[in-house]
Amino acid sequence: MIPFNKPYCSGRELSYIQEVCHSDTMSGNGTFTKLCHGFFEKRYGFKKCLLCTSGTDALEMCAMLCGLKPGDEVIVPSYTFVSSAIAFLREGAYVRFADSGNENPNITVDNIRPLINEKTKVIVVVHYAGVACDMDAIMQLANEHNLIVVEDAAQAVDSYYKGRPLGGIGHLAAFSFHETKNISCGEGGMLVVNDERLVSRAEIMWEKGTNRAEFYRGMVNKYGWCDMGSSFLPSELNAAFLWAQLEQLEDIQGKRKHIWESYDKALRGNIGNGITLPTLPEYATNNYHIYYMLCPSLKARTAFMNYLKNNGVQTTFHYLPLHSSKYYLDKHDGRELPNCDRYADTLVRLPLYYELTDEEIRKITKLILNYK
Ligand SMILES: *Cc1c(COP(=O)(O)O)cnc(C)c1O
Repeated sequence: MIPFNKPYCSGRELSYIQEVCHSDTMSGNGTFTKLCHGFFEKRYGFKKCLLCTSGTDALEMCAMLCGLKPGDEVIVPSYTFVSSAIAFLREGAYVRFADSGNENPNITVDNIRPLINEKTKVIVVVHYAGVACDMDAIMQLANEHNLIVVEDAAQAVDSYYKGRPLGGIGHLAAFSFHETKNISCGEGGMLVVNDERLVSRAEIMWEKGTNRAEFYRGMVNKYGWCDMGSSFLPSELNAAFLWAQLEQLEDIQGKRKHIWESYDKALRGNIGNGITLPTLPEYATNNYHIYYMLCPSLKARTAFMNYLKNNGVQTTFHYLPLHSSKYYLDKHDGRELPNCDRYADTLVRLPLYYELTDEEIRKITKLILNYK
C-alpha cells in the first residue's frame, strides 16, 4: 500500500536532540528555539516569532491576543480544521462561518463582507493547501471596519501572496509543524506577531503570563505575573528537531515540488470522469503542500477512492463542514454554505511526502488515467 503520508527525518534531527541532552537547557526558549525564531524572522521578515507546542496553541494565542469579549464575533471559514474555530470559541466569541469561493476552498472577500456587523472583531483566513487568500482585498475590508486579521497559515510555510510571505500580512498568524505539514517536528507550531503593539503581550502570554522575557533581557530585575497566559512554548528537544528540518527547507520544498509537478504533468488535460484539477490564482505561489482533485459528486469520489485503495494507493478527503457539525449545528445561523459542502463532498488528496518515489508516482498516475 502506498500511504497518504509518511513523516520524514532529514538527517540531523537525532544529533541536534543529542546536543540538547548534553547541554544545560532542555526546557523552552534555548539555543534551538532562538535559531528557529531567527530563521523565520530573517528569511520572511516576520516581526516576532514564538514557537508553540502546536498550530492549535498558536491559534489560541492569536485568539487571546485579540482581546475578545463575550458576544464579539469572529468570521471563520467553515471548510477548515476545527482549531481555527475552537481557539476563538474558547475566548467566548461567537463564530460566524463563511463559505469558500468558487475557484478553491479559500474564503473570499465577497463571502466575508455580508457577515460583518457591529459585533465583528476578527477575520480568520485559512490559506488552504498553502495557496494564498486574496489578502489585499481582505486587509482593505478589515481596515475599513477596524478588524483584526488572523492568518491560519498552518499549511502555508514558504508560500507567497504577490511576493509577500504568507503569515506576514495579517496582524497575527499561526503556523503548524504537525507531522502532516511540509516542515514538521511531530507536534509543533509557531505564532507570528506582525502588529508591533501586540509583541510584548504575546511574549508574556507565551511564558505563562510572566515577564520572564524582559527579565532575561535585563529590562527588569525580577519577573512576575503580569497577564493571562499558558505554557505555550515547546521544549528544546522539539526545537532541535524543527531546526534540522528548517536547515533542509530548500531540499524538502524541492522534493515536494518535483512530486506535485509530476502529478500535474501526467494528469492535467488527460483526466476524465468529470474530475477536475484546481488552478492557482495569479497572485499566489504554490508551496506544494497538497495535491488535490475534485470529483463530480460524493458518490463519484467514494468510488474513485475505493478504486485506488483496492489498487494499493491510499488517498484521503479533507474537512467536514464545521457549520453543520454535531457540535455547531444548533449554534450556526442557518445559512447554507454550498461551496464548503461541495469541497467536503468532492475533494480528494493524493499521497505527497518526501520519500514518494518516481515509480510510485507513475503507478498512481497510471491508475488514475486508466480509471473508468
Ligand atoms: C494542521 C492545521 C491546524 C492545526 O495545527 P496543529 O499543529 O495540528 O495543532 C490548524 N489549521 C489548519 C488549517 C491546519 O491545516
